[in-house]
Amino acid sequence: MGSVGAKDVPVLLTPEGRRIDGRKLDELRPIRIQAGPLHQADGSAFVEWGANKVMAAVYGPREVHPRHLQQNNKAVIQCRYNMAAFSVDERKRPGLDRRSQEISKVIAEAFESVVFAEEYPRTSIDVYIEVLQANAGTRCAGLVAASVALADAGIPMVDLLPAVAVGKVAGQIALDLKKEEDNFGEADLPMALVPQSGRLVLLQMEGHMTPEELSRALDLGVAGCTVIYGKMKQALRDRYATTELAGGAA
Ligand code: UDP
Repeated sequence: MGSVGAKDVPVLLTPEGRRIDGRKLDELRPIRIQAGPLHQADGSAFVEWGANKVMAAVYGPREVHPRHLQQNNKAVIQCRYNMAAFSVDERKRPGLDRRSQEISKVIAEAFESVVFAEEYPRTSIDVYIEVLQANAGTRCAGLVAASVALADAGIPMVDLLPAVAVGKVAGQIALDLKKEEDNFGEADLPMALVPQSGRLVLLQMEGHMTPEELSRALDLGVAGCTVIYGKMKQALRDRYATTELAGGAA
């Protein structure tokens, strides 16, 4: 990475309140969600969110591997978030690094709060998230993709889990940071929400915000999640509408 001189920092916010890609502070990047693109998986989803491209596949409930993780009273939810070596400008070392392990863990824990795991004792629900192209916010894009993939697999859940990162850019709270904003901004706050109850099941923070800024960020994040939730439900509706038109052919 190396240190970056002040002259290299891009203008993150214009005097008119426009961001590096022309968005307003409360604007999301364009999002497209496709449910069910992978036919081998029990459930799948592809999410294009700004320049992020993320595929999620769900398998299960199925036999637990490794066996010792099996639980007698509920399914275990195993999640593997992976960034492809070609997903970023500077080639990323392939394989599970600490960051990927941490993201896999927080995503699995988020799903543990919404999946009715006790309905499938001694099984595993395996969630794979592959980031094919990354431009900040990939854990949220991964959560959104995995959530739609879980629903596509018919796994019973309290609700879908919309997610978004809010941050602080040039002293202002901004929704859905892109790469430059994440790199040069002052804070990054990814969150995932259970829309039905308003409960946050993922909340991480990098950088600093005052209590007032945090409160504004949470409000902005919840509003963003509501929009994303609508797109997630629409993706599932489109999937089933297509299936019906095709006479049920998968
Ligand atoms: N990134 C990268 N190389 C890495 C890890 C991350 O270039 O090894 C980039 C990538 O674009 C990612 C962004 O940095 O989306 C922000 O990463 P962060 O750890 O904040 O997670 P994310 O915002 O993707 O959930």
